[in-house]
Amino acid sequence: MDKNVVLIGMMGSGKTTIGRELSRKTGMEFIDLDELIERRAAMSIPEIFQTMGEAYFRQLESEVLEEIMSARHAVIATGGGVVLSAENRQRLRELGLVVWLDAPADVLLERIGDDPNRPLLSRSQPLKKLTQLLHERRDLYAETSDIHLDTTELTKDEIVERIIEELEKRSADEDDVFNTIVAIDGPVASGKSSLAKKVAKRLGFFHIDTGAMYRCVTYEAMRRGIPLDDAEALIELAHSLDIRYEEQPGEAPNRVFLNGEDVTEQIRAPEVSRNTSPVADIPGVRTELVRLQRQMALRGRCVLDGRDIGTVVVPEARWKFYVVASLDERVRRRMLQHQQEGHAVDIRQLREDIIERDRRDRIRTHGALRLAPTATILDTTDIPLEEAVEIVASIVAGALALK
Ligand code: C5P
Repeated sequence: MDKNVVLIGMMGSGKTTIGRELSRKTGMEFIDLDELIERRAAMSIPEIFQTMGEAYFRQLESEVLEEIMSARHAVIATGGGVVLSAENRQRLRELGLVVWLDAPADVLLERIGDDPNRPLLSRSQPLKKLTQLLHERRDLYAETSDIHLDTTELTKDEIVERIIEELEKRSADEDDVFNTIVAIDGPVASGKSSLAKKVAKRLGFFHIDTGAMYRCVTYEAMRRGIPLDDAEALIELAHSLDIRYEEQPGEAPNRVFLNGEDVTEQIRAPEVSRNTSPVADIPGVRTELVRLQRQMALRGRCVLDGRDIGTVVVPEARWKFYVVASLDERVRRRMLQHQQEGHAVDIRQLREDIIERDRRDRIRTHGALRLAPTATILDTTDIPLEEAVEIVASIVAGALALK
């Protein structure tokens, strides 16, 4: 298990004490954000507040939080106001299981006593100030946390035990979810989308065609006249789009909806295909779409196809396939597909497009097409689609039924 535990809550809620004890009991590393801030500023926190002001402290807080985003298997104690920024709240959720250690203002005050290192507490009316801060932050703590623990009546050991129980429960649930995720990666026109779609139907899973998302961003950018080399604008666009799939009865593939509009056919046009690779090269666009894909995947019982599913989007997926086919066969399949969809194509141009898109997919700095270490390679050059579907579906279905 490499999940982190993030402790949030007001001053006096016990984040540091509980964090240290949890770290001692579980062997997880302990990270105290306040300590990192003090080290970075070479000043104590009250000194930072006094000499540089609260805004500067908040900036340092965001910087150290960004710095620890790669932490694994750590207990992270935060400062009470870390949740004030939306960006920080997002980061905390991405870091791991967020536990809100809660207590009413009078209990907090009792625990803090007359600790002088609390720059936000006014000396004259500390209870009033604490009540007001708690009132301002309650909704933010609630929005950010996975678990709300009222610590008023609990001992330190009881709180630590509760958190450990939650961690174990969630890690068992997650294992179950990953057992029902099938990741299918492969180069352009290797047959992965058709395979994924049919495997999903066979297993009664949901099909998530991740290429369709990159196509949606590209299509919308082309429609709005956004230059395809304007990374900032494309990232913003990827962030703002609402992309959904709608399952269809029988053998029909999912329809793709972009801001409520059915764009299933439009996003497959050859000019969209050609323009999508460069858009998918932009790291910020990938970050937005990968987040969305992972969110969808973690609902479980799904088959995802793309380039980086088994390596980046859900590396924890139990089922990973890497589909390949010869270049000639891939050109033939794509040609057939375009003809069926009524798009005019020049076979030489199509071949060049495929080679170029493969090249870009392999060399991009983020989310490049790569074989995941535990993936099974499936060469579909000489086998009919139905046979490939049978191979994949029976492996997954067989193992799940045995469970
Ligand atoms: O799979 P499909 O051909 O629809 O994907 C369109 C484009 O989107 C690909 O050429 C590839 O550059 C990009 N893509 C990606 N990562 C994915 C899926 C697709 O970069 N997971």
